Amino acid sequence: MSARILVVDDVPANVKLLEARLSAEYFDVMTASNGTEALAISRRAECDIILLDVMMPDMDGFEVCRRLKTDPATHHIPVVMVTALDSPSDRNRGLEAGADDFLTKPVSDVVLIARVRSLTRLKMMTDELRMRAITSLEIGMQAPERTAVADTGKGGRILLVDDRESSYERLATILAAEHTVDVEPNPTEALFHAAEGNYDLLIVSLDLNNFDGLRLCSQARSLERTRHVPILAIADAENSTRLLRGLEIGVNDYLLRPIDKTELLARARTQIRRRRYTDHLRDNVQNSIEMAITDALTGLHNRRYMESHLATLAEQAATRGKPLALMILDIDYFKSINDNYGHDAGDDVLREFAVRVRKSIRGIDLACRYGGEEFVIVMPETDLHVAGMVAERLRRSIAGEPFAIHKGTKRIEVTISIGLTTLEQKGEAVADVLKRADTALYRAKHDGRNRVVSQAA
Ligand code: GH3
Ligand code: MG
Ligand code: MG
Repeated sequence: MSARILVVDDVPANVKLLEARLSAEYFDVMTASNGTEALAISRRAECDIILLDVMMPDMDGFEVCRRLKTDPATHHIPVVMVTALDSPSDRNRGLEAGADDFLTKPVSDVVLIARVRSLTRLKMMTDELRMRAITSLEIGMQAPERTAVADTGKGGRILLVDDRESSYERLATILAAEHTVDVEPNPTEALFHAAEGNYDLLIVSLDLNNFDGLRLCSQARSLERTRHVPILAIADAENSTRLLRGLEIGVNDYLLRPIDKTELLARARTQIRRRRYTDHLRDNVQNSIEMAITDALTGLHNRRYMESHLATLAEQAATRGKPLALMILDIDYFKSINDNYGHDAGDDVLREFAVRVRKSIRGIDLACRYGGEEFVIVMPETDLHVAGMVAERLRRSIAGEPFAIHKGTKRIEVTISIGLTTLEQKGEAVADVLKRADTALYRAKHDGRNRVVSQAA
């Protein structure tokens, strides 16, 4: 997995060193010698990860990081601060500025590459989501960037998996200042607990008694319910090589004991903020998919979806030798409902009609609004006889109970006509099936409406 890394340092020798190491691992490297240049490159979306020197003339690394993390165009790019100073206060200044991690000069090759690889995976996933979420912006959904930049990362739900009482009591107390914390001292219960709890962050100790904390992390990564929950691992200093292994299997961040309070809080906030942002992106993607395939007024599928899906259903039916029934339903004299009671009353009828349709069909049946007051229902594995009974039941559910309009102050009689047919056993073009159903519907209208007409294939 190749990514483009931006190395920012005012000392050319430092840039060269990092560039050589990263290039040897086939990363694509860009360089900048000051903050202004780094910001410009990042805004043009030309890099995936930024390795940022702290001490630079003009604008220092903290300020560059703060600007990157408060700009909607760049806030999602992972930033690793590279510093000669390794005092907790420097680390914390960087983390408060929103840095994703800290590396101390001289930078260890193994740690550098493990970190960059793990952040690359994260960035690729976020990019994929961002790309898909762009369409949802075009249809007017709220921009996740604005929310993300304003998010403090506080108020998260955290599950802490740690079996040492002295340790988890201290950590839970620290975290409780900003979040809701549950402690799970039993690692065998932890996965279940994590899957049930809807957490924003899992913090997992790798120093558990008789239990491999990394196994838990890897299980959390493969389980659907916990796949997207960030993991922060904590370990004793002598376990630090296992932390690198952790990054490979999808741990997002780690901390070594003894744990610095401010650093723990800062790292937790960073993970929670990222989690909320990607969740938001994911929701937007989901919503835009739904909007693209559903009819806004009735919540049924729209015509475009029906047409593409019907082809698939017809193909399945033909290859499996199963029947497939299709009906077109049309509300009788709908125009006069609009004319007599107004367009809003017409809309009420359409909505209520959709509710009754949903109640009458199975989950595998496909119901869609085909046009104005015309609907199509496709029923897999259903022959003409059974489909006829369903259609008749549907017709009665409409005609048998008046529809409420004008906010429930008035009730009116509504009826529908239905044309019904099935797919030819040897398979045929869906357009022909629709045409036959339409012809049957025409006859139902012609014969007096409020009736079902079936037309065998
Ligand atoms: P028939 O019994 O022959 O089907 O008569 P009809 O009046 O139902 O049929 P026609 O096709 O003449 O009229 C359909 C009407 O549906 C015309 C159109 O204004 C109305 N219509 C289409 N979409 C909507 C909608 O979304 N809301 C409302 N309120 N009316 C709609
Ligand atoms: Mg009609
Ligand atoms: Mg019509």
